[in-house]
Amino acid sequence: MAVPKPAIRWVGASANNYTKGRTARIDRITFHHIVGTGASCEATFNNPSRGASATYSVGEDGLIRQHISEKDTPWSDGNWESNQRTISIEHAGGHPNVPYTSAMYKSAGKLHAWIIDRYGMTYFPKHREVSRSPTVCSGGLDRERILADARAIIKANNTVPQPPPPPNTPSTRYVRHTVPKEYVFNKNANLWNLTTTTWAGFKAVKPFKLGEHIDIVGEARHQLGGIYYMTAYSFGDADKTGKPKANNGVNAKDLNIWVAPVEPPVEPPVEPPIEPPVEPPVEPPVEPPVEPPIEPEPEYPNWFIRFWKELIATIERMLGINK
Ligand SMILES: [Zn+2]
Repeated sequence: MAVPKPAIRWVGASANNYTKGRTARIDRITFHHIVGTGASCEATFNNPSRGASATYSVGEDGLIRQHISEKDTPWSDGNWESNQRTISIEHAGGHPNVPYTSAMYKSAGKLHAWIIDRYGMTYFPKHREVSRSPTVCSGGLDRERILADARAIIKANNTVPQPPPPPNTPSTRYVRHTVPKEYVFNKNANLWNLTTTTWAGFKAVKPFKLGEHIDIVGEARHQLGGIYYMTAYSFGDADKTGKPKANNGVNAKDLNIWVAPVEPPVEPPVEPPIEPPVEPPVEPPVEPPVEPPIEPEPEYPNWFIRFWKELIATIERMLGINK
């Protein structure tokens, strides 16, 4: 939405006071003050002997007057090069009896906003900043206040150029597989460049033959819907950065997980039984000879000893043995 055109009264100017047409691109607005009222400005620029003009003026009552077309060159800046490039605007005030009024500032903001919005200029000199002859114009006019108001109006109208919204298309996502795996092609197929937004845009990068192997670390879930498996070289850190090192992948349908063929079980060679080492026979421990217990001398009762002593003594006596 563009800034709306404020109410403007066309009042014209004497054909003696400006140049028809332009010879340069408009790139600025020059700020002037009238040192008087809007009506006095209208009168001055219609005076054929005045030799001066501006494109617009803003009266103390807020009335915006247009004196010449934007397509014509005002005689305003005391500098022909600047005249050729400017839209000059007079503002009522700067006179002891004509202050810069809030009505003037309010209208000025709207007028500047409407012009800046259409031309996009960024240069806003005061007359005295470009004039080649001495002048105090634009006096005490508050240029920054007017520009701030104008910018606020432009912003409120959302006319600040915005970058075009991104096309409403889903983007390709890159997903790293949990575990890298070895795959084998189940047909003759291609490695495809995935930088395309149309099916016709897929470009073959490299052919693969049925039975060839490829190590896969991740996949591109293409914005068009297909899933393409990617090698570590192509994938890079695409899961983190969104940008693969090389945007190439193989259609997942062209690959099978490689499963090593099951080899017949190799029977283990019959190993000779390991004979247990021949252990030396356990020799029975040499038992020490059992010594017969020394039998204590039998003790005989006293009566028995006496009996035998007396018997022996009797026999000795009977045999005549003397001791
Ligand atoms: Zn001026």
